[in-house]
Amino acid sequence: MPYGYNGRILRVNLSSGEISEERPDELFYRTYMGGSCIAAYYLLREMKPNIDPLGPDNILVFADSVVTGAPAPGFNRYTVGAKSPLTGGIGESQAAGFWGPELKFAGYDAIVIKGQSPKPVYLWIKDGKVEIRDAAHLWGRTTGEAQKLIREELNDVRVRIALIGPAGENLVRYACIVNELKHANGRTGMGAVMGSKNLKAIAVRGTNKPEFYNKDTITRLAKHFAANFLENPSVRGTHRLGTSELVSLQNVTGQLPTRNFRSGYFENADDISAEAIHEKLFVKAEGCYACPVTCKRVLKADHPYHVDPAYGGPEYESIAALGSACGVSDVVAVAKANELCNAFGLDTVSAGMSIAFAMECFENGLISREEANGLELKFGNANAMVRLVEAIAKRDGLGNLLAEGVKRSAEKLGKGSERFAMHVKGAEFPMHEPRVKGMLGLSYAVSPLGADHLTVEHDTDFDFNAPQVFLDQATPLGLLRRLPTSTIDSDKVRMFCYLQPHFSFLDVLGLCIFTFGPVRFFTMTHLVELVSAITGWETSLWEIMKAGERRVHMLRVFNCREGFNKKDDWLPERMFSPIEDGPAAGNKLDQEEFKDALKLYYEMMNWDVNTGIPSKAKLLELDLGWLLPEVESRQMESVS
Ligand code: SF4
Repeated sequence: MPYGYNGRILRVNLSSGEISEERPDELFYRTYMGGSCIAAYYLLREMKPNIDPLGPDNILVFADSVVTGAPAPGFNRYTVGAKSPLTGGIGESQAAGFWGPELKFAGYDAIVIKGQSPKPVYLWIKDGKVEIRDAAHLWGRTTGEAQKLIREELNDVRVRIALIGPAGENLVRYACIVNELKHANGRTGMGAVMGSKNLKAIAVRGTNKPEFYNKDTITRLAKHFAANFLENPSVRGTHRLGTSELVSLQNVTGQLPTRNFRSGYFENADDISAEAIHEKLFVKAEGCYACPVTCKRVLKADHPYHVDPAYGGPEYESIAALGSACGVSDVVAVAKANELCNAFGLDTVSAGMSIAFAMECFENGLISREEANGLELKFGNANAMVRLVEAIAKRDGLGNLLAEGVKRSAEKLGKGSERFAMHVKGAEFPMHEPRVKGMLGLSYAVSPLGADHLTVEHDTDFDFNAPQVFLDQATPLGLLRRLPTSTIDSDKVRMFCYLQPHFSFLDVLGLCIFTFGPVRFFTMTHLVELVSAITGWETSLWEIMKAGERRVHMLRVFNCREGFNKKDDWLPERMFSPIEDGPAAGNKLDQEEFKDALKLYYEMMNWDVNTGIPSKAKLLELDLGWLLPEVESRQMESVS
């Protein structure tokens, strides 16, 4: 009997309407464990390369893990994976909240969705029963309107719903999936894939929790967390102010992305800081399933914009992308734009950075006022920023161009605009500065998802100002020294190679990074103990690191077979030019040093230094021998 999971995976073919169930064995679950790895497994096994990500051949996977729904802080996240319409490579994104645990309690560990429905539908899953229901009346509705209608229709206010808004229906390449109107599978355009399948929502309701192997240990560690988490400086800050506390912290060190990454210092950062948000807009703090940190913020305003508290409030990434990156200092406008992103189903990071790109193009005469929907699209124009969010979701005027993401927008616009397109592999930059954090820059470059700030802990967590507890908690990984923040030398590459599998494992299991070490409260020992207590498996940090490495390689192989190679592991030109002003003015990455770091990273990973393709030995070592034909054909193509 499985502990922690159901042993059941739901399969839905939207073209034929066929619903079936698969019951993989324990070996499958122990090898792939959940989330990102389960999604990648089905994409690699059952989808051909080079298919249209917005066509019926794409496969969309919603995946919990073997531990999702355990009653302890941080065990709530689920992954959505598919081929990304934004990057053309692997797409995936994790979301927090309550939807992941509810799917588990409804009887399934994952849902594998194929085909394309001929008309709008939604899925209704309740305690092992599954229905495909008509969604014609929901199409075109915001997430808030659709959620309300579905709950009324099912006559149950406790139904948890993951759904898309008009942006997903309109195939905006960075459309997201939203659950509870405020938790998003944000990055890489999973909402557009859902829209392309005419799938508006997945509603779940479950009343059957799985058995856990050792409930006493889980309860003891959950209580230990609840009683002591404020001792951890990082979790304490997140609890007190939410992730918005980062706005000021990033700004004073010159790494708050400002005006499309021209600067790392925003002169009006105080106006969009955590303190400003709490003073002007704060309603209450909220959290996720079984977590006492309550780091989410619910905001409300009436002037100059009405901000609906039902849509939560912006996290740090959203505040910076829609705020400082666009030069916008009106915190109510930032909160409004965040609400619109959640209502229309848009990734706040890609939306903000697409608008920042357009603003820089406008200021340099590459986009006229007429082309900009009549807007004076200068940095700092809050109203223009808010109006463009809606225009992107509706593909209206300039919004239709920006809905394609900055890479495609620059290709269409031409005129040298690619120098303002801040992306890796087509995914827009998140709100962290590689010219200040060197390891982060390398992680942006090599991440299979494109620019992704959640590939590894950041350099600042292990530099000379970092709290000692972060260093202490990293010692089980063999990381014993503090390193300077902005370097990208061999010590830093080694640090990256040791931290990456651990961080990757958190995405395999769908664990919240704000609760787990090395930086947050739960240590590696706690992690091993919890996984054992939930599943009954005798596990170890070794197995955890290997599972994290397995994920990195599955995602890498997916991209290799789609034709990605070494040239895609690179950063925009701006990263090799100095930051214009602020405390980090003059910081830049050195091209030769960065090339050396990339080569050393490939060598440490056992990847071909000329192509970036994982070696046969490495794949065999990770029990991924079934992927060898994929990489061997790519290796031959690059030789010929
Ligand atoms: S730390 Fe915050 S995001 Fe993470 S599980 Fe707790 S409330 Fe959710």
